[in-house]
Amino acid sequence: MTDQPHALYRAFDINGQLLYVGISVNPTARFNQHRAIKPWWTVLANMTVEWHKSREAALDAERDAIIAEKPIHNIMHNSGDRSTTSAPGQAVWLCGVCDRPVADAAGYVQVDKGRAALKVRKAIEAGLFDKRGDCTGTSELIPWVALHSSCDLDPDSADYWMRVERIRTREQIQRFGEHVSEKRWGIATDWDDASHDALAGGAFPTGAQT
Ligand SMILES: [Zn+2]
Repeated sequence: MTDQPHALYRAFDINGQLLYVGISVNPTARFNQHRAIKPWWTVLANMTVEWHKSREAALDAERDAIIAEKPIHNIMHNSGDRSTTSAPGQAVWLCGVCDRPVADAAGYVQVDKGRAALKVRKAIEAGLFDKRGDCTGTSELIPWVALHSSCDLDPDSADYWMRVERIRTREQIQRFGEHVSEKRWGIATDWDDASHDALAGGAFPTGAQT
C-alpha cells in the first residue's frame, strides 16, 4: 500500500490564502467524503493536486510545503497559535457526527470491517491483487470514523473499534496501524489517511458520510 502513488494537495480560499496541505492515496474520494463538513470547505475556492510516486515521497513534500507555506489549518510541522485544545504531537480525532474533538474516554474510532472484508474478497475474485499481495484498484477505501459514545446511534453494531486515548501519539498510532495491516481487511480501509489527518490536527472529521 505504501508504494502506491500519493497526492499532495493544497486547498486555497478565494483570495489565494493557503488553507490546508494534505496527502491522500485518492484525493477525489477524500474530498467528496469531507465536503461541506469542515467549516473551511465553505471558503474553499481552489485545489491543486501534485502526485508523488510513494507515500514516503508525498510525506516529505507535505512536510516541506507546510513549513515553507504555513497553511492556516495545518498543525503538524506548523508552529504558532492553533484553534485546537490538543497537546503538540497528539492526534485530534474529530467526531464524524458532531465534528467536535473526542476527548479521552469519551469515544472511539471504528471501521465497518464487514464492508472492508467484502471489498477485499471482491478484489481477490476480480484478480486485483498483484504478486506481492498488494491490492491494486481499491480506490474507495472504507472509512475509519471517530465517534463520541454519546453521538453513536448504533453502539452495538459489529464494527471494529479502538478507544481514542489509546491512539493519541504517533507511536500508538503506528502500532495500531501495524495491527490493522495484519488483518486481511485492513488494506481496504483508510487508516493511513485517517490517522495522518488526526495527527495533522484534525483538519478533517473522520469518515464523514456524504
Ligand atoms: Zn460527537
